[in-house]
Amino acid sequence: MAGPVKTEAIVLRSIRYGEADRILHLFTPGRGRVGAIAKGVRRARSRFGGRLEPFGRVDLVLHEGRSDLLTVTGAQSLEAHRRLREDAAALDAAARACDAVARLFDTPDPNPAVYNLLCHELALLDRGAGPDAVTPSAATHANQLAFRLKLLVAGGLAPHLAACASCGDADHLTGFSGAAGGVVCASCEAGAFPLDEAAHAFLTAALGRTLADAPSASPRALQQAERAIVDTVEHHAHVHLRPATAGLGSRA
Ligand SMILES: [Zn+2]
Repeated sequence: MAGPVKTEAIVLRSIRYGEADRILHLFTPGRGRVGAIAKGVRRARSRFGGRLEPFGRVDLVLHEGRSDLLTVTGAQSLEAHRRLREDAAALDAAARACDAVARLFDTPDPNPAVYNLLCHELALLDRGAGPDAVTPSAATHANQLAFRLKLLVAGGLAPHLAACASCGDADHLTGFSGAAGGVVCASCEAGAFPLDEAAHAFLTAALGRTLADAPSASPRALQQAERAIVDTVEHHAHVHLRPATAGLGSRA
């Protein structure tokens, strides 16, 4: 199907191409992950200006030709997230969040829930970034894990947390098994790794609350929670996620 396509998108990545072009990895609500080329965007007088920077939310007109890559023919900025770009921690968190979306949702399937979640996460990071931040920084390990957990839910991979994923027992939940699909009890924990009560409580609270209200936990609990997320993704989506923070466990 050739012709113009109008869509909102988040720029996940932007890669230099040729003399003056960029290849954009986009995430859209209605077409999932899309690749597009922005021609001449690196020229000083480009008609796109700075509107196609990574982590921005944009309204695009794309031309769909015979190539796998669509061509950007129009771009309007909806949220530039400028504060985020001037704050190293927020920028790093935004890159990791976009990378997680790109790896977990690497298809042209529509997924407006994932799109909305990513918009929300980038807005939170932007509001808490830089010298004129309006909220506390969202570039924390806890926030990044809460975001990934919500991605799992949107992808149909939510881990079982209320009872043993193997036998249904609601007591003595002491381990986590990606293969079993969630927390497991002491009798079923062969092949599982230990999950402390604090890590279990973090996972449950993070799923029950909004991203802006993500719970905090000790570095140890967060490390276990991250392992649970990584194990779930590897078993059920066969995807390996990058660590949620640069200094793993150093920022609570
Ligand atoms: Zn069990």
